Amino acid sequence: MPQAIPLRDYGRTGLKVSRLGLGAMRLPTTPDGKVDFDPAVELIRQALDGGINIIDSMLNYHDGDSEVAIGRAIRGRPRETFYIQTKVGLYADEKPDDTFQTRLDLALKRLGTYIDFYLMHSLSLEAFQRNWQKILLVLESAKAAGQIRHIGFSSHDTPDNVIKLIDTGLFECILLQYNMIDRRYSKVLAHAHGKGLGVGIMGPVAGGHLAGPHELADGLLERSSSEAVACLRFVWDNQDIDVAFSGMSSSQQLNQNIQAARSAEPLSPAERKKIKTMIEAKEKLADLYCTSCRYCLPCEQGVDIPGIFRLMNEFRVYNLHARARTLYGWLVSGQHDASQCTQCRNCLEKCPQNIPIIEQLEEAHRTLAPPKEE
Ligand code: SF4
Ligand code: SF4
Repeated sequence: MPQAIPLRDYGRTGLKVSRLGLGAMRLPTTPDGKVDFDPAVELIRQALDGGINIIDSMLNYHDGDSEVAIGRAIRGRPRETFYIQTKVGLYADEKPDDTFQTRLDLALKRLGTYIDFYLMHSLSLEAFQRNWQKILLVLESAKAAGQIRHIGFSSHDTPDNVIKLIDTGLFECILLQYNMIDRRYSKVLAHAHGKGLGVGIMGPVAGGHLAGPHELADGLLERSSSEAVACLRFVWDNQDIDVAFSGMSSSQQLNQNIQAARSAEPLSPAERKKIKTMIEAKEKLADLYCTSCRYCLPCEQGVDIPGIFRLMNEFRVYNLHARARTLYGWLVSGQHDASQCTQCRNCLEKCPQNIPIIEQLEEAHRTLAPPKEE
């Protein structure tokens, strides 16, 4: 009998989830980028057979095909043996054929079953305040009809705002980004756990960017089979976290993670000390630069000043060059990059670190921007 993946209480939902969850945003794809259904369905089934009992998706992952693949993979399985978590975005401009209700109906149809944990995706305090009454009406009637069991949210809002969302008392579970290089939400995770929410995290290996050699994992490698496993052990060592969702694309990756989830040892006191020392040393370097306090915002041009400086930290301090450049490319596409700055100087005196923001933005753009096409 293979060792089982340890289960953890998912807050006060009364349900127990495996400490490793399958993130269904990186399913196997065909050369044209569409979900390759046969291997994708097989991968999801292997995950469930291997002891993972919770799958996380979203209405738009793989253009909706992620939920379709889950629906196919679970057909015929005893429904009480696994949990489905999926998410839906809030949009300001609802159209008659595209409302919160029609999005929920679509997810239910694709999955072919009820949803255990229904999360509002990337919820901000501002979006919540604008929409919550009408959204809650839909959610409560869906709950009463047995279409969803628990309500939650994921967020990239500021830690203070996420705490305010938790304190509304309306949510039963939460999903936040957390890994060795991004511990912005450490206090929020503790707050959520203390309030009895089920706590999930995404990005334990930073979208695969921490799967290669990096200094932070060095101190854990003696007792971890790879950097990715070191990252997972780091996350599981945080007792505020119930489940770490990892997006997996291949059987090999899945098996390695399942093996780790079954048998990885807790961090030893010596390992804990090593990683703490390394993180503090890196944080000191990073904090000299920008503390992400966001006092400089809003910028009228939409420049994401702390986001850009965080990427510069990842580039300089953690040597994650490819990741920093890729994520900066996303800021360029959304016109939140440093080149939008008109040098109005409004942000300068708001910065308690006295960072020469304009010069630093210029440097960030020189370092991170994709080369111009000839
Ligand atoms: S100086 Fe640049 S970054 Fe600062 S507020 Fe003005 S436009 Fe935004
Ligand atoms: S005010 Fe300064 S330290 Fe705070 S986020 Fe902006 S640049 Fe960073």
